[in-house]
Amino acid sequence: MNRLWIDGRAVAGADRDTVPVVNPGTEEVVGEMCRGTAADANAAVDSAAEALRLWRRTSVSERAAAVRAVGGEIRKHTDELAEMLTLEGGKPLRDSRGELDVAARTFEFYASLVEQETGRVVPSGSSGQVNLVVPEPYGVTACIVPWNFPIQLLSWKAAPALASGNTIVALPSPFTPFATVRLAELAAAHLPPGVFNVVTGLGPEAGEALVQHPSVRHVAFTGSVETGRHIAVTAAGLLKKVTLELGGKDPLIVGPDMDLTVAAQATAFAGLLNAGQCCTSTERVYVDQARFEEFTEVLADLVSGLRIGPGTDPTVDLGPMISRSAVDRVADQVAAARAGGARIVTGGRRPESPSRGFFYEPTVVVGAAPGSTLMTEEVFGPVLPLDTYRDFEEAIAKANDSEFGLGASLMSNDPALAKRFMEGVEAGTVYINDPLTPNCSAPFGGTKNSGLGRELGLEGLNEFRQSKHVHWDVGGDVKSYWPDVPVS
Ligand code: NAD
Repeated sequence: MNRLWIDGRAVAGADRDTVPVVNPGTEEVVGEMCRGTAADANAAVDSAAEALRLWRRTSVSERAAAVRAVGGEIRKHTDELAEMLTLEGGKPLRDSRGELDVAARTFEFYASLVEQETGRVVPSGSSGQVNLVVPEPYGVTACIVPWNFPIQLLSWKAAPALASGNTIVALPSPFTPFATVRLAELAAAHLPPGVFNVVTGLGPEAGEALVQHPSVRHVAFTGSVETGRHIAVTAAGLLKKVTLELGGKDPLIVGPDMDLTVAAQATAFAGLLNAGQCCTSTERVYVDQARFEEFTEVLADLVSGLRIGPGTDPTVDLGPMISRSAVDRVADQVAAARAGGARIVTGGRRPESPSRGFFYEPTVVVGAAPGSTLMTEEVFGPVLPLDTYRDFEEAIAKANDSEFGLGASLMSNDPALAKRFMEGVEAGTVYINDPLTPNCSAPFGGTKNSGLGRELGLEGLNEFRQSKHVHWDVGGDVKSYWPDVPVS
């Protein structure tokens, strides 16, 4: 797997340097990733630019068939790809399969949608004229993705980009490169060479070159705020389109009417899926003060009974975090909260077993001050800080007290509260009674510092196409507003 995927084939990197990829569940080296250079990134973009000439002219139905077939490859090879995702990224096999199902559905969804969304005929200013709005691709698209959902987050870019006639160069995270290269190899059975390229490597090397290459017209990025801001600044200087899916600090409000066991199950799922390393992980929980103690107890009981271990073990509920430094960062945030007076109800440490791997116990914290790091910065780990509210207006105000606005969840069967919540909360996605569940048909993205633009849904197709207006005077007669030809 020590290869890049460029122009329809596996190639060795220009300088043959590699970086080890470590299984976070065991600390064993899974394989060596090719450390692609700027020259490799440039070669991939050149191949994508060459392939674009024909791909953008392929009929919509041919492109749709190819995109649907890529989804089919994911379904056919789910076991193999799931194992790769679990070995390199750590998440339990069950969750890797779930990720692949979402990815396959995304390819299938955009294959169907692009055949329906073929542009429009708009009213003409004069009779004898035809006015068309024709969707066109931007060109070569750089798809830059993080390690937490490598194939799912790539599919949210690759499927609409390819369906729209763009060609792509994907940059997976150096933590999780292998499943992405394998997907490109599987996709090659259905796509011409150069349409889907993958460069593995480091962001400041291969990634930087991708963003700067003049043939890349759109950078579709998912990752941290810091990297996203850097890419946006570079792209602004070069007048390229960017879409940014960035961090979050998602709140979950437990409504005063909600069954506390159901709410605790939903909270544990939303806060601990992929060891809390989802962009829409629940990172703050607000509970009415009258039931706060009881909820804390139910949640802590549930969470402390979860089994921790490597994702390859089918009995495991909670896998590892991505790296040792990620565990250290979470441990520091929890320690700072404790020092600031917060109480750790359960967890708050690395488990004794397993002895190897990057694990952190699922953790419930109460009493963290509203402005503290734990309540304001993205934790991206299995930590659930709980806070109280006196009334629902205060709950919404606390939910909105964040620089982020990606997702927000409510657990309640009171329609009046649900309405108040969906209208009042500042977030790109509002989940009521089913946190974190993606839906290909609906747009996904952030408000405030959580990003720019949308993925998924019709909105997520339109991010990858620009409108060309065709103003056509069919008769070609001389117009009254043209200058007369002087009579000589
Ligand atoms: P990251 O920003 O470190 O890296 C993301 C990607 O950017 C990687 O592929 C990396 O190689 C690349 N990169 C780094 N520097 C680059 C540069 N100078 N030029 C081009 N590419 C560069 O993020 P991460 O640690 O991999 O991911 C975690 C972050 O992603 C979290 O903040 C999380 O919230 C966010 N995230 C957001 C969403 C969303 O949809 N909003 C989804 C998942 C994750």
